[in-house]
Amino acid sequence: MSAKKPYNIIYHDYDVVVVGAGGSGLRAALGAGQAGLKTACITKVFPTRSHTVAAQGGVAASLGNMGEDKWEWHMYDTVKGSDWLGDQDAIEYLVRNAPKAVYELEHWGVPFSRTEDGKIYQRPFGGMTKNFGEGPVQRTCAAADRTGHAMLHTLYGQSLRNDVEFFIEHFALDLIMDDGVCRGVTTWQLDNGDIHVFRAHLVILATGGYGRAYFSATSAHTCTGDGNAMVLRAGLPLQDMEFVQFHPTGIYGSGCLITEGARGEGGYLTNSAGERFMERYAPSAKDLASRDVVSRSMTMEIREGRGVGPKKDHIFLHLDHLPPEILHKRLPGISESAKIFAGVDVTKEPIPVIPTVHYNMGGIPTNYHGEVLTKVGDNADTVVPGLMAVGEAACVSVHGANRLGSNSLIDLVVFGRAAGLRSKELVKPNTPHKELAPSVVQKHLDRLDTFRYADGKTPVAKLRLDMQIAMQQDAAVFRTGETLQQGVSRLDAIHKASSDLGIKDRGMIWNTDLIEALEYDNLINQAVVTVNSAANREESRGAHAREDFPNRNDEVWMKHSLMWIDTQSGQVKADFRPVHTYTMTNDIAYIQPKARVY
Ligand SMILES: Cc1cc2nc3c(=O)[nH]c(=O)nc-3n(C[C@H](O)[C@H](O)[C@H](O)COP(=O)(O)OP(=O)(O)OC[C@H]3O[C@@H](n4cnc5c(N)ncnc54)[C@H](O)[C@@H]3O)c2cc1C
Repeated sequence: MSAKKPYNIIYHDYDVVVVGAGGSGLRAALGAGQAGLKTACITKVFPTRSHTVAAQGGVAASLGNMGEDKWEWHMYDTVKGSDWLGDQDAIEYLVRNAPKAVYELEHWGVPFSRTEDGKIYQRPFGGMTKNFGEGPVQRTCAAADRTGHAMLHTLYGQSLRNDVEFFIEHFALDLIMDDGVCRGVTTWQLDNGDIHVFRAHLVILATGGYGRAYFSATSAHTCTGDGNAMVLRAGLPLQDMEFVQFHPTGIYGSGCLITEGARGEGGYLTNSAGERFMERYAPSAKDLASRDVVSRSMTMEIREGRGVGPKKDHIFLHLDHLPPEILHKRLPGISESAKIFAGVDVTKEPIPVIPTVHYNMGGIPTNYHGEVLTKVGDNADTVVPGLMAVGEAACVSVHGANRLGSNSLIDLVVFGRAAGLRSKELVKPNTPHKELAPSVVQKHLDRLDTFRYADGKTPVAKLRLDMQIAMQQDAAVFRTGETLQQGVSRLDAIHKASSDLGIKDRGMIWNTDLIEALEYDNLINQAVVTVNSAANREESRGAHAREDFPNRNDEVWMKHSLMWIDTQSGQVKADFRPVHTYTMTNDIAYIQPKARVY
C-alpha cells in the first residue's frame, strides 16, 4: 500500500444541508430557503443533470382539467396500485397536496402543455381511474414528454432565487452521526480533492434510486442509491427493498425508456401473432393496467413462445396507427429515442420493447413530514433526530408494493415541500452547532482510504457486472424461493469478493475509478438487502411476484420489511413495521383491502 497523504479539510456550518439536487432535493432546499434557513444543496452531478431530467410522462394531480376528478379517486388508485402496502395516512397527504404542488410549479414557470382553453394538459396513465376504478381518467399533467426536464430547470432557478447555496460535483461520503443524532455530512470535492465537513441541524437525503444494481435499467448511471447506503452504514434500516418496479417499455437492447404516456396517448402492445394480448390479462384497463401487471403479462407471452424478433425475446409497442401530428406534438422525445436507440420510425413501425428496471419502491423509511424512522424496541416509528429523506431514496410509504406512473414526480414535490415546511418547525435559524469529535470524520476518511489505496486484483467493473447480472437473473420480474436463494448466495459471494478490489488511480482529482468503487460499494450493500428481503417475503404483492407463493397473504404479510446490514461482513438482520391502516383525517375512511384486478 502506498503512503497515505493527509487531506485538506474545509469546515462549513449550515442550518439545513440537502444531499441531492433532483426534483425532491431542489424542492426541499428551496422550501428550507423560503423558511429563512441557511441552506446548502450538495450534488455529485450538475443539478439539471439529475435523473429527474429524464422523466417523460408527467406528474399526477386531480386538477380535473379534462373531465371530473377528485383527490379521493386518486387516493383509491394509489392504494390499489400499492397493493395495500402503502401507508394510507401518507397517501392521503400526497393526493390532497398534489394539486397545490402542481399549481406552485405552474406559477414558478413550468411550461406545461395546454388544453384549448389554456389549462394544464392532462393525459391518461396506467392505473389512474375515475369513480374508484370505473374507467380511465386524465390526471397526469404533462409538458409534452419532457415533464421532468421542465420541472428540474424551473426548480433549480427557484432554489437560486431563494438563496440556496450549491456545492456542485461534491460526492457525499457519509453521515456524521453522534449518539443516534445526525449532525451533518462529509463530501469529497471531485475537481480538487478537498474534503468538506458540513455541520447541520438537519440533513435531508434526496439521492434518488439504485436502479444501477441491475444490468438493464432505465435510470442514469448515477442512480446508485448513495444516500440509502449511507443510512445502512449509519446502522439504520431500509424498508421494502424487495419491491423493484420493472417498466413494461424499455427499448430492447439499450433499456432506454419509452414513457407510459405512449400508451396513454393510444399506443398498444402486440405479440408475435400480432395479438393485442393485454385484452386477455386485463380486460378492462388493457394496455393501461398498472406496470407490474403489464410487465408480468409481457414476460408470460415471451415465456410461452409468443415473443417477437429472431430470438422471440421481446414485444412490440405500436404507435404507428396514431396521427403523426399527435406524435410530434405529444411524444416528440420518445419518437427521437426510438429512432436513435432502435432505428425505428414510430410513424411507420412498432418499437421493440422489454420490461426494464425502472424504480425502487423501497428506501429510507420516513413519515409524511420526511423525517427518517427506525425501529427501537417495539416502536417502529421512532424518529431519527436531524435526518430526513425525500424522493425516490425515501419510502414514505405511498407507493407500497408498486408505484403508479406519474406518482413519483408528484411525490418529489409534495414531500420535498413537506420537508421544507417541517424544517421550519424544527430548526431555528443560526442555532449554534455542537462540537464534533474528530474521530467521527476520521472514520469516513479511513473508509475512503480503504478504496483509494485498494490494491487487490479485481477491478470494480468486474464486481459491478457480476452483481448486476446476479440481480437481473435472480431478482427478476418473476421470482421463486430457489432463484432468490441462489441470489442470496451469489450476492454474498460477490460482497465477500469485494475485499479483493483493486483500483489503479490514487489521485483525488476527477478520480473516476475511485468514484465508481464508492458507488459499487453502495450498490452491493443495497443489492444484498434487496435479495434477502425478497427471499424472506413468502407471498406475491405488487411488483414482488413469487411463483411459489402466487397469492397475496394479508394475514401474515401486510407489513413493511425492514432490513439492516453489517456493511463489513454482509450479514443482514430483518424485522418488520406495521402498515398504517388509518388515514390522515376523518374526511376519508381506510380503504379496505380487496383483490387487485384491472
Ligand atoms: C427514464 C425515466 C423516466 C421517468 N419518468 C417519470 C414520469 O414521467 N413520471 C414520474 O412520476 N416518474 C418518472 N420517473 C421516476 C422519477 O423520475 C424518479 O423517481 C425521480 O425523478 C427521482 O428524483 P429524486 O429527486 O429522488 O432523485 P434524482 O433525480 O435521481 O436525483 C438524485 C440527486 O442526488 C445526487 N446524489 C446522489 N448521490 C450523491 C452523492 N453521493 N453525493 C452527492 N450527491 C449525490 C445526484 O447528483 C442528484 O442530484 C422516471 C424515471 C426514469 C429513470
